[in-house]
Amino acid sequence: MSRTIAVIGAGPSGFYAVDGLVRALPDARIDIIDRLPCPYGLVRYGVAPDHQGTKAVQRQFERLLAKPTVRFIGNVEVGRDVTIEDLSALYDALIIATGCSHDRRLGIPGETLDGVVGSGAFVGWYNGHPDFADLDPLRPDMRTVAVIGAGNVAIDVARVLAKTADEMGKSDIAPHAAAAIAKLDLAEVSLVARRGPADANFTGNELAELGRLAAFQAIAQPELLDGVAAPDGDPAPERMRKTKNLEILRAFASGAAAEKHRRLHFLFWCTPVALHGVDGKVRTLELADTRHPEQRRRVPADLVVTCIGYDPSPPAGLPLERGHIAHEDGRVRGLPGTYVVGWAKRGPTGVIPTNRADSLALVKVVVDDLATVPPSRKTGPAGLDVLLTTRGIVVIDTTAWLRIDKMETTAGQTEGRPRVKIGTWFELRDLARS
Ligand code: NAP
Repeated sequence: MSRTIAVIGAGPSGFYAVDGLVRALPDARIDIIDRLPCPYGLVRYGVAPDHQGTKAVQRQFERLLAKPTVRFIGNVEVGRDVTIEDLSALYDALIIATGCSHDRRLGIPGETLDGVVGSGAFVGWYNGHPDFADLDPLRPDMRTVAVIGAGNVAIDVARVLAKTADEMGKSDIAPHAAAAIAKLDLAEVSLVARRGPADANFTGNELAELGRLAAFQAIAQPELLDGVAAPDGDPAPERMRKTKNLEILRAFASGAAAEKHRRLHFLFWCTPVALHGVDGKVRTLELADTRHPEQRRRVPADLVVTCIGYDPSPPAGLPLERGHIAHEDGRVRGLPGTYVVGWAKRGPTGVIPTNRADSLALVKVVVDDLATVPPSRKTGPAGLDVLLTTRGIVVIDTTAWLRIDKMETTAGQTEGRPRVKIGTWFELRDLARS
């Protein structure tokens, strides 16, 4: 009998695991289950809409979904519609690849003011994630934005807000977000980093792009860059990345006199300590100098987007709570046949291809384990269909997803974009059923 495997989470680490599985076990029947109606996780809902090159990996995932042994089972939430125990009874192996989706919090006064939003929600909103269709984070009177964090997500958020409608013309930004951003007349975006310029997590290409914006001038303070170098003790790739960042920031520092009147400031050594508002709406961000915490300043901020990483706690209903923490090799303790991979296992670090190696290493563990157990009579996909039908759960399967995909790409063609995303639960479910 062929093996049956369920992958929970249809994002990059889930699909990279499927890629390894179809090579190692070509006969295995694989269901890739996601609570969302559309596959590809971070590729669809996390990668910036103007970075279509990064989304090209989706084509590789599409080829996997085209295989007769692989099914997408969307609109099914593990923990709500089916339990881990249900799935364990149906499949020979379960791979949890649910990523990290909840925003980490700053934990400072004023965080609940209107106009303060986490990057998970904000990025989801501009990427057409159905959970954030009603977020509505922008008001046309907003003039100043503080983006907190010195990672690539902070750069994405700053760039998407700073780009003109023309610059976003070939992107797949959600239509509601494109319209709201186009109504803004921003004067200033501040990128707030609690450490120094040599410690930023940015990668060079992403940072350099901020120097090529049509309407915004990227500005760094020259005095913070004087004599600063990447630490000698860092491994060579890190030293190279930091050295390149410093070169780019020096170019930003020397070009401050240029003509663009909208400003994108880098504020290094600034730790957020409080947010202050008027009538419940955020107006200023109070910062302490990280090296001299008694020195405080306030910067104007009508919108604050925190890009400080994601809470690594697992979604409810998955057996990753205390006591079940995964072994380094991805096996979930106490639950034979259950594995975890990607951001769900190691936290929110690394670019999309980082997950490939992680997922392929896990597949080796799964395949080795399966080789030690005799073939089972578990019914896999057929059993899942019966279970979901009995419970009245409407699945968005590969065919339904392809229908959504076709609608989106066809609408995109008429606008010269890769796709026009459908971004509400209602529309997606309705389309899938039609
Ligand atoms: P990240 O690189 O870990 O950056 C998080 C930033 O938040 C850090 O600068 C961190 O500062 C700061 N931070 C954390 N807690 C804070 C606090 N309480 N107050 C102020 N600052 C705080 O995370 P990310 O930007 O979310 O990115 C996640 C991963 O996705 C990264 O590996 C990233 O490279 C990747 N990614 C890649 C791309 C791309 O390739 N284009 C795009 C987006 C994301 P400290 O360093 O001081 O802790």
